[in-house]
Amino acid sequence: MAKTVGKTLGWGLVGASTIAHEWMIDAIRAQPGNSVAALLSSNTERGAEYAAAHGIAQSYTTLDALLSDPAVDAFYISTTNELHAAQAIAAAAAGKHVLCEKPLAMNLADGRAIVAACRSAGVVLGTNHHLRNAATHQAMRDLVRSGAIGTPLFARVFHAVQLPAHLQGWRVQKADAGGGVVLDITVHDADTLRFLLDAEPVEAIAMTPAAGPLEDGVMAVLRFDNGVLAQLHDAFNVPHAGTGIEIHGSLGSLVGRDVMTQRPVGEVRLRSAEGERVVAVEPHNVYAHSLAAFNRAVQGQGAPAATGEDGLRSLAAALAVLEAARTGQRTPVAAV
Ligand code: NDP
Repeated sequence: MAKTVGKTLGWGLVGASTIAHEWMIDAIRAQPGNSVAALLSSNTERGAEYAAAHGIAQSYTTLDALLSDPAVDAFYISTTNELHAAQAIAAAAAGKHVLCEKPLAMNLADGRAIVAACRSAGVVLGTNHHLRNAATHQAMRDLVRSGAIGTPLFARVFHAVQLPAHLQGWRVQKADAGGGVVLDITVHDADTLRFLLDAEPVEAIAMTPAAGPLEDGVMAVLRFDNGVLAQLHDAFNVPHAGTGIEIHGSLGSLVGRDVMTQRPVGEVRLRSAEGERVVAVEPHNVYAHSLAAFNRAVQGQGAPAATGEDGLRSLAAALAVLEAARTGQRTPVAAV
């Protein structure tokens, strides 16, 4: 039976991961009444070390052990991507709420199965698309909704970075773990654009560099159902490009710089006939913001910042980009 009321939420971490270490453990502990109750790692020694380093009382090596722990009310799943579906579905069946990392799954069938399992179990499902939690993106969305740029027509995303050495591993080596820039970064772009535009991508064209079995860069265009064309540049191997996102409309343009990042930084400018101004933004920790919305959803108030359906739709867009790059064809984004 899933927890819906009460003051505490015990988390089971699925995966002794970098993202949990760098951001999510602190973000969980920043929520009133939340605790990290247990960890699941495939490796006994590494799991025990990770648990000790982070002050986590229990370290398990089997999913069944974590599922049976009564102190665990919710799973935070940050394993490599091919594992998300089975772990999320098992959590739902045991009545645990699920916050799953992106991409929600490796394919739409698995993503749909996660959403269906959580819905039928009555547990909360969130996808940890962090960027829509950023104050910069929230300010941009408010301005788009208020009509400050008129009718949105075009968008450009700059999300080409140098992948740090400690994150290279499966991302650049293992297609069967969901490596490659599209499932890692483009899926975030798609989610952020969906959030900013209140629109759904319907079609993709894309090219990737020719070399290598796993793409380390992509140039793509997504067409949205409100007519917006969005251009995306994502890469793992360019250290000095900088990140940003722009929305260009009939009356104005929004220009976000250094905003496609985990850190609460960046600047948004609004340009219109009245001139150019910096948009006032109060930065906050994006992961803590995501956790706060998830906590409210568990208490029956609203939905996670990015729901399971959001994870599924953003995955569908990323898969269309991959398919378009593979075939060289305009590719429809599959219905979810
Ligand atoms: P990591 O490579 O750090 O961790 C993934 C898995 O790799 C862990 O579950 C762990 O397995 C295993 N692992 C960790 N260290 C080792 C090691 N030394 N040797 C062998 N295996 C190891 O991945 P990330 O934290 O970068 O990414 C995890 C997930 O989070 C992915 O789905 C990714 O897409 C997502 N992500 C999301 C971000 C966001 O901002 N929303 C940012 C970064 C990642 P085990 O549990 O068996 O120990």
